[in-house]
Amino acid sequence: MKAAVFRGPRNLSIENYPLGKLEPRYIRVQIEACGICGTDFHIYTGESYSKPPVIPGHEFTGIVVDKGEGAYNFNIDDHVAVDPNIYCGECQYCREGKINFCSNLKALGVSLNGGFAEYSIVPISQAYLIPKEFSFLSAAFAEPLSCCVRGIDNASIKLGESVVIIGGGTIGLLMLQLVKLRGAGKTILIEPVEKKRNLALSLHADFVFDPNSPEMKRDISDLTSGGPDVVIECAGNSAAANLAVSLPKRGGRVVIFGLSEKKDTMNITLQDFFLKELSIKGSLLNPFTFSRAVELLVTGKVKPDRLQPEIMPLRDLKKILSEPRKSSVIKYQITPN
Ligand SMILES: [Zn+2]
Ligand SMILES: [Zn+2]
Repeated sequence: MKAAVFRGPRNLSIENYPLGKLEPRYIRVQIEACGICGTDFHIYTGESYSKPPVIPGHEFTGIVVDKGEGAYNFNIDDHVAVDPNIYCGECQYCREGKINFCSNLKALGVSLNGGFAEYSIVPISQAYLIPKEFSFLSAAFAEPLSCCVRGIDNASIKLGESVVIIGGGTIGLLMLQLVKLRGAGKTILIEPVEKKRNLALSLHADFVFDPNSPEMKRDISDLTSGGPDVVIECAGNSAAANLAVSLPKRGGRVVIFGLSEKKDTMNITLQDFFLKELSIKGSLLNPFTFSRAVELLVTGKVKPDRLQPEIMPLRDLKKILSEPRKSSVIKYQITPN
């Protein structure tokens, strides 16, 4: 089969790769769509924990074309979305139900072969059925959406509360749709790129701001009677996190969702933290949220096509990962077949 293989930092080759043997309780999936995410850029440059050789791509969907012994729940021709994060079920965290902290976590497309290939071998525990008439491209958003569902759960938004989202990329625009579903009151998105701000408005953000506008903080405070109830940070850098903790009103909550670099830190005035009784939470991976994400997609409650993904063939993957990221493109998706 044709596959994109990570052979070392900045060394990704499209090559013929063995199909691999199908063990019991595994299915072979013909990949119809696989999203490119920030993690794939980190894998390409060698900054992730991926060890070569490995086939990256962890946001994928496709058709079941073969199944090993014991894969009773799946039939040939079933359409599936794949949760790439594989928990061991045996470590202390897994036994406490905190599977996203699993000490032996493995992930398809990161530490195991993933979806930038014509086929992938997937443990049945990781596959979720999707309706045959549903778009593979939309279903390939199930993984990032399942992580956003975790973030929204952690934000505990109440009906009518005001919410600020920082960052209007894939995650920010998925979060925006979830925040609306959650019954938020005023919803505000902060994003420097105009095209993304306009997309946010088309997805019913009540207000959008360029973070470089000098009046932004005052305007947000005026719009929300002293600050939002909830801030969700989806940009993954120090400036965004510092802004996130500075915005909420007293009693407010902050979810730091974006994946920042190791050197990045957050500044917070301790008296502010004390007087506001702020709650600050992280959000890691997608523990037990994948089936809810699939349900939100197949019922049309969340519409990832509104993010206008760019669909590319497998042969263009290296070019996309090696060139500077285009701020105008929100999401790339690869269709290997
Ligand atoms: Zn991802
Ligand atoms: Zn574990």
